[in-house]
Amino acid sequence: MAIEHFVTNDALNIKMATILQTWPLYRLFEYTGAEQVATLPKYLSLFCDNCAKNTFWEAHFYSGENNKDGFTSKQYKCRNCANRQCSYYFYWKKEQQTCRFFKVGQYPELEEQVSKTLEQALKLEDLKMYKNALRLRNFNLGIAAVAYMRRVVENRMNDMLEILHEAARVHNAPAEVLARHEEVKNERRFSVKVDYAGDLLPTNLRPEGHPNPMAVLHELASDGLHAKSDEECVDIFDECRQTFEYVFGKMRIETEEAKTFVKGMVRLAEKRAKAGEPKQK
Ligand SMILES: [Zn+2]
Repeated sequence: MAIEHFVTNDALNIKMATILQTWPLYRLFEYTGAEQVATLPKYLSLFCDNCAKNTFWEAHFYSGENNKDGFTSKQYKCRNCANRQCSYYFYWKKEQQTCRFFKVGQYPELEEQVSKTLEQALKLEDLKMYKNALRLRNFNLGIAAVAYMRRVVENRMNDMLEILHEAARVHNAPAEVLARHEEVKNERRFSVKVDYAGDLLPTNLRPEGHPNPMAVLHELASDGLHAKSDEECVDIFDECRQTFEYVFGKMRIETEEAKTFVKGMVRLAEKRAKAGEPKQK
């Protein structure tokens, strides 16, 4: 991992919160600067199963507390219900020129939960692979995690195109884009499908000047993957996960709602038309 140089106190606090909240165990963060910061951030944002939502979690520090002296632990409590606690075990110390930080344990464990909507959308076999992928990712085994993720995405690619096609229809995509649907679904090359997924993505989800969110899926099948480290693969994994879960989660629900809404309107219009017809004698 590249060393981050001359981080400010604020930047370090934000980074530490991100590491505690989302980074895998054993992933090393190495930095210089922010010498005065020797305690973890006071607040984290984590999911609380008791509150059933993301809440702020708070840690208490005694005056002069030093978390930056080798292996130690720290507890956070949900501020909303004060009924759930999260413990972190980590290493943090200044060695020669740089400071090194990594987690060695946490309880409850990093979130391996798959959202309800995704669970419903995946077949049992894919769901199992997806959970394996998440577990590997959480132990910083990014290369293996990406391999599992690739299998799941390849297996579900046509379902993904189905949802995206529906969303594209709802958003009035050009007819020539919509027309390629069946042809691409029968296509064998993964990269062609990914490109088409990018074309189908509604324009409001791909702001100009930014990479298409679907493009990250190319990474799963790219030759360049062989040269990447576990850490780099974790980053690729996280991006792919976001895209994948968005399509099977929010987008699937929204397009289904839109479809139901349109159907309802059609039915209403038919009813009204019928009521307007002259009665037959
Ligand atoms: Zn709570």
